Amino acid sequence: MSAIDDLPPLRDVVEAHGLLAKKSLGQNFLYDLNLTSRIARAAGPLDGVTIVEIGPGPGGLTRALLAEGARQVIAVERDERCLPALADIAARYPGRLHVVSGDALEVDLGALVAAHGGGPARICANLPYNVGTALLVRWLESDPWPPWFDRLTLMFQREVAERIVATPAQRVDYGRLGVLTGWRSRARILFDVPPSAFTPPPKVTSSVVELIPRAEPLPCDGRVLSALTQAAFGQRRKMLRQSLKGFALRGRTLDAGALLEAAGIEPTKRAEEVDVEGFVRLAQMAADQAPRDQAQGDQAQGAVSPLG
Ligand code: SAM
Repeated sequence: MSAIDDLPPLRDVVEAHGLLAKKSLGQNFLYDLNLTSRIARAAGPLDGVTIVEIGPGPGGLTRALLAEGARQVIAVERDERCLPALADIAARYPGRLHVVSGDALEVDLGALVAAHGGGPARICANLPYNVGTALLVRWLESDPWPPWFDRLTLMFQREVAERIVATPAQRVDYGRLGVLTGWRSRARILFDVPPSAFTPPPKVTSSVVELIPRAEPLPCDGRVLSALTQAAFGQRRKMLRQSLKGFALRGRTLDAGALLEAAGIEPTKRAEEVDVEGFVRLAQMAADQAPRDQAQGDQAQGAVSPLG
């Protein structure tokens, strides 16, 4: 019997179901239910709350979320081998665990929540490292805003967590991810988790990050912001007048000098010296200077990789 429920210890669950961790699925499992309870409490209080969990695996965090009182957990898991173990948890908590078998990148999570009675809803997950940033960027770019979730409590590799919460004060870590995060949320690192807490242990330390969506983020088109930060941080050692040279929006190449001047940013600055508000102003000015009649063209322009 484990400390938080009457289900078997996770080590036994993993062995009984033959859940040898797969690297390709970013599987590093947490067996310590005290630790998963700590993560669940960080997402709480959970009374009346619907939790969306990505990658429940054998269910360590899932069990903690249910034991901590979440109204229900909607868990999306790609590895079908985990489904029988999750079915045992669902049987222990009747009507409170809904397991969706599939790829979280392809599931409309907001629609799932709505189908299960709506919010308040939050996301809590020990994310698979290979899709963690892509998922976060997708959540930050949610439309409409405010989004369907009121909080994100997520485990990342420490290095990624540092990039998420970075500001210009942490130059090395500050980049597209920090700008996007700062634009739409307030983020902070809650605590670290050592490699030894996972099976198998990863090479690096992990961190639990909390993101609270801003009710009213600074107004700008996220796709323009995304394209601009990609251009600016793509050549982060260069001055902005150089890195934004040739920046095109809606089929028009914009004048980098005029754009920077309009946004009140010195052209000799580097991307890592410009704060979120500065990038938002740049995005506003860029949108103003691009032709308006091809607004749809933005979509392709903004479809850029989430890392950086
Ligand atoms: N939550 C468990 C824990 O804390 O022990 C497992 C966390 S493990 C780091 C990541 C989990 O995400 C694995 O169970 C893996 O199979 C699952 N996963 C990987 N890629 C996924 C995807 N695209 N969609 C849904 N689940 C995914």
